[in-house]
Amino acid sequence: MKLQSRSQIEALAKFKAQGDLVTSFYLDTDKGRLTKKEIQLALKNLLSEARTRACALGAAKGRTDSLLGDLALVADHGAQALASSNAAGLAFFSHSQKQFWHALELPHGPRSRVVFDTNFYIRPLAAILEKYSPICALLIGRREARWYDVAMNEIRLLDELESDVPSRVREGGFEGTSAKRIERHIDAHLQDHFKRTAQRTFDLSKKHPFEWLFIGCEDNHGPDFEPHLHAYLRDRTKARLKARVGDAPAKVLQEVLEVEAKLKKAEEEETVQKLVAELERGGLAASGLRDTIHRLNQFEVQTLVVTHNFSKPGRICPTHRILYLTEPKCPICDKKTEIVQDVVDEAIETVLKRGGTVRHITPPSKLDRYGEIGAFLKYRS
Ligand SMILES: [Zn+2]
Repeated sequence: MKLQSRSQIEALAKFKAQGDLVTSFYLDTDKGRLTKKEIQLALKNLLSEARTRACALGAAKGRTDSLLGDLALVADHGAQALASSNAAGLAFFSHSQKQFWHALELPHGPRSRVVFDTNFYIRPLAAILEKYSPICALLIGRREARWYDVAMNEIRLLDELESDVPSRVREGGFEGTSAKRIERHIDAHLQDHFKRTAQRTFDLSKKHPFEWLFIGCEDNHGPDFEPHLHAYLRDRTKARLKARVGDAPAKVLQEVLEVEAKLKKAEEEETVQKLVAELERGGLAASGLRDTIHRLNQFEVQTLVVTHNFSKPGRICPTHRILYLTEPKCPICDKKTEIVQDVVDEAIETVLKRGGTVRHITPPSKLDRYGEIGAFLKYRS
């Protein structure tokens, strides 16, 4: 099944293992960045590392067997999915003891990992959903209008409308004042068509909320149409499309995705640029993993800016939940720190729990030169 909506995530979040351990499995299968060989090897290594870890947990035999059962299922389904799917990521959720199994194809490559816990680990899914703003593509012809919903790389027709607008006056057919009168008559119909289209767009936006509105308009009527739009929708109008109302959905989708990628890239570049400027003037910003974690431990971080899938092992104080890169003992309570598979991910979770924001940056970017991670700070203590 493809990851398409928040309700899928909520269903996984609600799953109750009643104290048992369950397995969440993520694999980056983005063939744009990885070869098939690399993906297969990553799957193999991930599974063998996870088996070792499951056995080392020291859980009751039934629990360990359940986890090993999960991993056997992942091995089977993983190999199958690699052969048949072109998705950029795979996620499996398993509780073999209770015969629960859920597989998802992801539109974006996650960090590859296996997590054993009493709940399913779903944060990467939420991060992927966040990456894709729901978009409404509105295509307007002289008589028709069509609305498409584009989410998670897929397109769906939302609605269509047809108005009664007469054809243009044929050249040489009428002359003088009567031709002008007919033109005015046609214009009135056209304006009416735009008004209906704008109203329907507003109604649809309430039923199917979208982040961005892209508009493709025949005969360069865009400037005539847009004033009819509700101010709320004008703010969300992010792009004009070349696509036309009669185009096949696949063609519309392709252009929407290209425009979306450009807009996202521009947003990310702006974020990194702001961070770099703040760093250079010695303002409220931090960069590099060590300093960013230090600032986070001091409760200074407002917004974390991190290269997508950047990952590093680290340590955590079991009492204070304070993050470290290497400290074997917590300098505050002197307790032995525990290893965490990915300290970046722990940092992301901490920021989100405290109500901060996290911006994921697609590499390569200027952030690479700053240690692939940084933060905007609330203050400096
Ligand atoms: Zn401590």
